[in-house]
Amino acid sequence: QAKGEDKGTWQRYRPELHSAMVQRLETRAALHEAIELEQFTLMYQPIVDLETGLVSGVESLVRWQHPQRGLLSPYDFIEVAEESGTIVSIGSWVLREALAQFAYWRRTEPAASLAYVSVNVSARQFRTPGFVDHVRQAIEDAHARPEWLLLEITESLVLRDADQVWADLRVLRAMGVRIAIDDFGTGYSSLSYLRQMPVDVLKLDKSFIDDILDSEQQHIMVDTIVSLARNLDLAVVAEGVEDLGQRTALARMGCPYGQGYLFSKPVWPADVMPLVHNVRALV
Ligand code: C2E
Ligand code: MG
Ligand code: MG
Ligand code: MG
Repeated sequence: QAKGEDKGTWQRYRPELHSAMVQRLETRAALHEAIELEQFTLMYQPIVDLETGLVSGVESLVRWQHPQRGLLSPYDFIEVAEESGTIVSIGSWVLREALAQFAYWRRTEPAASLAYVSVNVSARQFRTPGFVDHVRQAIEDAHARPEWLLLEITESLVLRDADQVWADLRVLRAMGVRIAIDDFGTGYSSLSYLRQMPVDVLKLDKSFIDDILDSEQQHIMVDTIVSLARNLDLAVVAEGVEDLGQRTALARMGCPYGQGYLFSKPVWPADVMPLVHNVRALV
């Protein structure tokens, strides 16, 4: 029976379905040992202050160095990792690795503009009992400061069981950790709800940025969100900035931060500091 079907319904055997299923099962099994085998690795993408052009922070983005399939993007395995629960240990590894790397950068280059590392947290990981203590411990073990950490969560997590999640968010923020809503605008949160959310940063999804030059409507939308965010004391990061025209339009609107291929694709750790120092390379 093909995966994901309701019980009791049958489908004709299809080889392509079969191989997709085998692929998923293999991924699932291999994910289990990928941590012990040290097959995960992090790349970093700069988040740029649109006013000064300085790199204000970096986002850590996980990659899986698969022995047979090569370097895999999160799109190839995060979903399976979520389903199987492995995301909890992967996420824990990512958090510790990103903090250790960032603490190293701060120690070796204390004068650099680089102020924080942003770490993606899956809903399942956030909702694991003890998550907040886990974050506290990870910061301590890395000899890092809570202010150096920005956690990226999804809109749907903030909307679902709001009570527990919001309580945890408040504890994290009281510690000094900052919270960003990733891919903002792709979910269902209303703008009026924003005022109450215990978050610090909105990361405006790439789909909003793609059309700001061609669509008057998209332009107005982004402009409105940026002004609202400013009034609510929320920072905004525009995601997926790919060309200079978009950057200029965003800066004119007063959007404080941008991230995207225009500035840099995700890079390996050794290439981060050169980017931070070479501001003009970031346009
Ligand atoms: P995200 O958090 O929204 O990260 C941004 C994604 O957009 C990254 O893809 C980045 O490489 C890509 N990107 C950045 N700028 C541009 C641009 O200008 N144009 C285009 N076309 N793409 C751009 P990546 O690294 O493949 O990550 C995909 C997603 O996987 C991330 O989306 C995030 O949701 C998830 N992810 C990555 N690392 C982790 C992790 O450590 N834990 C969890 N739970 N999820 C992760
Ligand atoms: Mg993200
Ligand atoms: Mg994002
Ligand atoms: Mg995105």
